[in-house]
Amino acid sequence: MINAKRCFQVVKIWYYIFMKKIDVDSIATSLSDFAKEREWDQFHSAKNLAMALNVEASELLEIFQWMTEKESDLICSDEKKKKQVEQEMADIFLYLVRMADKLDINLEAVALEKIKLNAEKYPVEKSKGNSKKYNEL
Ligand SMILES: [Mg+2]
Repeated sequence: MINAKRCFQVVKIWYYIFMKKIDVDSIATSLSDFAKEREWDQFHSAKNLAMALNVEASELLEIFQWMTEKESDLICSDEKKKKQVEQEMADIFLYLVRMADKLDINLEAVALEKIKLNAEKYPVEKSKGNSKKYNEL
């Protein structure tokens, strides 16, 4: 049965999808409710979520296994393959949001902070056009 709170969350999520914005808090709440309803919270330790995240990342990687780089870049021209990629990316994102919620980590804030740190580690004048790691620049 869908209660008013859940209905509001669903509408809010679709609004953000339609507006092409992400509301991480709403997604985290939906995932938390999903787990609580199924009594799965007990299984969502940081370790288990990190493992599940890695498994989903491997499922994404498996789709690209043995493809050439060009084939991988064109994967979304195949609707079936594109759907597989979308599903695995969603799995990764959902586990990441769930893990951040359980560990009380502000995913948006740390992501923005990491972009800033990466810009410092990879200054344009040293890293433009090459793929060397920051400690090799
Ligand atoms: Mg999956």
